[in-house]
Amino acid sequence: MKDTSFVNIQTLSTDFVLDLKYATTDNFLHQKVYDCPECFLRISTAKALVKANQELIKKGFRIKLYDCYRPLDVQKKMWKILPGTNYVANPKKGSKHNRGAAVDLTLVDLFGNELDMGTKFDFFGPEAHHTYTKHSKEVLQNRKLLKETLAKYNFKSIYNEWWHYEFRPERYSTVSNFKWKCE
Ligand SMILES: [Zn+2]
Repeated sequence: MKDTSFVNIQTLSTDFVLDLKYATTDNFLHQKVYDCPECFLRISTAKALVKANQELIKKGFRIKLYDCYRPLDVQKKMWKILPGTNYVANPKKGSKHNRGAAVDLTLVDLFGNELDMGTKFDFFGPEAHHTYTKHSKEVLQNRKLLKETLAKYNFKSIYNEWWHYEFRPERYSTVSNFKWKCE
């Protein structure tokens, strides 16, 4: 039977860099919508991500997490600010983030510096698309490294956000709205 429970990824591994943007005002909402920066995911999504990170660490990189599970109420807030675009999922259906099976992330080097991915996180425009090829070689290589490594562990990209990946084997019909506890 599939384990459908959620887990705080840091209980599985402390090798991730956490930069939960929605726990700060540095995001497109310009609002702090999480009380504290924690990364919760469905357990199988989290385990696969740990494996991907282990492979990246061997190559001298590390995953930095921008967003993980996202309560449905936060999704509603985002939809209010950015409705009817391809960038925020309609809360009526909900996002994979609301199901704990999507992550927003980037790569950092051994010193914690973010690799150049061509745009910032949550840049809503063509430069953030995977199909945009006018970036430097370095940017394209960085994106490729991220995409190819994650693909090995069943994470699928979407066309318009280089930072967004969904764990493919997980198909949860229900969205969640729990809030994690903060100290
Ligand atoms: Zn996302």
